[in-house]
Amino acid sequence: MKIAIYPGTFDPITNGHLDILERALKLFDKVIITVAKNPSKQPLFSQEERRSLIRSAVKRYKNVEVDLFDGLLVEYARKKKATSLVRGLRAISDFEYELQMALMNRKLDSTLETVFLMPNEKYTYLNSSIIREIARLGGDVRDFVPEAVLKALTGKHPRKP
Ligand code: ADP
Repeated sequence: MKIAIYPGTFDPITNGHLDILERALKLFDKVIITVAKNPSKQPLFSQEERRSLIRSAVKRYKNVEVDLFDGLLVEYARKKKATSLVRGLRAISDFEYELQMALMNRKLDSTLETVFLMPNEKYTYLNSSIIREIARLGGDVRDFVPEAVLKALTGKHPRKP
């Protein structure tokens, strides 16, 4: 059984994240999406809210687990018996940070492999922070996020009459 961890902040989950998840599911028997607490990013949604939004968005997939995590990722992966970490690469701008993380995680646990997947090009300019910003300004993000996220964003930023 090949298990992968897909870690991230997911504040909130977008269709770009789901694109990566679908690709990972073709390679692994099970994917565990794990939501990092990441207080330094001052997330809009709490860790539990982010988990519940992901759960609604991944209901249609089999072999996906959604979990919370706070601590050292390599230890978490070991506990979950995962062989790999999955990360998305959108553009060169992602590369430096991702390379640093991957090499540091390899140093911490040489048996854990980081696998990078590229999304469909229509998602390469999409990230959670741009979604939060557009939603805050009352813009329409329905093409970029799952239904549950759209509702939750409207809850956080009610449209002005
Ligand atoms: P983090 O704070 O760990 O970067 P994110 O939730 O921003 O968490 O991203 C989690 C992972 O998903 C990262 O590997 C990121 O590159 C990837 N990702 C985010 N948005 C997209 C997207 N639109 N297309 C492909 N991958 C994405």
